[in-house]
Formats: sequence, structure tokens, C-alpha cells
Amino acid sequence: MTLEGTNTYLFGSDPCVVIDPGSDEPGHLEAIRGAAAERGGIGLVLLTHSHGDHTAGADQLDAEVVLPSGGEEHFALRALATPGHAEDHVCFLTETGVCFSGDLVLGLGSTIVPPGGNSLAAFMDSLALLQAEEIELIAPGHGPWISEPEAKLAEYVEHRQMRERRLLEALEAGERSRASLLATVWDDIPMELLPMAAMAMEAHLEKLEGEGRLPGDLEA
Ligand SMILES: [Zn+2]
Repeated sequence: MTLEGTNTYLFGSDPCVVIDPGSDEPGHLEAIRGAAAERGGIGLVLLTHSHGDHTAGADQLDAEVVLPSGGEEHFALRALATPGHAEDHVCFLTETGVCFSGDLVLGLGSTIVPPGGNSLAAFMDSLALLQAEEIELIAPGHGPWISEPEAKLAEYVEHRQMRERRLLEALEAGERSRASLLATVWDDIPMELLPMAAMAMEAHLEKLEGEGRLPGDLEA
């Protein structure tokens, strides 16, 4: 889900790997084929997760398509299981510290973590997993490259922790209506983004419930 398109990456050569082919628009696929031909062709198409904006063109590149599990290695790219934005999400790490982060960390804006399956807890674990790696550069699925990975990862963690802290404060103050919690904790969000914020809040409530920190008398 993006206004600016999905980043497609070519890694290595003779042959190269295509990471997240993105759109199935013919001009885009032609550009991938042309760039890949200069790198000795396509050996494999790797996907960070199964969302359509990353995968639509994948089966039109005449190469095997793989969405690996964490721990697998393909063409010197190590897959790390990083659920949260999507349950099947993985990041790819090169030996030189480049991380292809898909939608776990974005170059612009903030990643959506839809509620369901305790996704936010998984997302926080995924960020911690990346923080434990030596990463020099993050190449995200959307937006520009991130040249200060540590700062960006810390910002992602702190942003979620800030919402959680404020949510807990509002709950401790006795607030029980979802509308009021949203208005109190997401008070810096423009009107048109409130539906997204409501989704984010559900993911937070789910995480708190999983940790036994959510009051039982929350209103619908
Ligand atoms: Zn996605």
C-alpha cells in the first residue's frame, strides 16, 4: 500500500537475484529484465512477504519465486523471520551488512501493523532481531535507503513504546471508550489518518491483552 510504488532490488550477478519485483506493469518488468540481463540474468526471485504490491510481477520473470522462512539462505542472502506487518514477512541480510527490509522498516512514514495474531508483539520482536545484527544500510520496500539503521530502528521502537505508554496512562486514568482512547493517545494525527490510527490502536490493545495489562471493561 503506497503512493510511490514498491522498490525492486537486483542483488549480485551471474546470475542476480530480484528482490520484490513489485508491480506487473509491463514497462516495470521490462526494466527489471533489462537491468538483470546486464548482471547475467535472473537466478531467483525472492519475496519479503506476500502482499500484492511486492509480488504482482513475480511469476513473469521466468525464474523460480521463493518466499523463504527465517534461517534460509539463498545466493548469499540470509533470511530473517520478521513478522508483524505481515505474518510471512522476512528481511534479507547480505554478508556486508545491507538489509533488504521489505515493509518492516520504511524509508518514509511508518509501517502499518494490522491487528490480528498479536502482530504488534511480533513486530517489536522483529525490530529487536534487526537491532541485534550488524547493519550498515537498510534498503526498504518503499521510500529512500536508510543510511543510519540504528537510529531508524530505535525511532521505530520508541514510537511504538510512546503510544503504549500513553495508552496505559489513559487506561490508568479510567478511560474505557475506544473513541476517547484514540482521541487522547493519537491526538497528533490528521483526521484522514484516524482510521489507520484506529487499526494501530487495536494492535496495541491486543498486545496489552496478551500481556495481561488490559482492563476487562473496555467499551466497544
Ligand atoms: Zn506489505
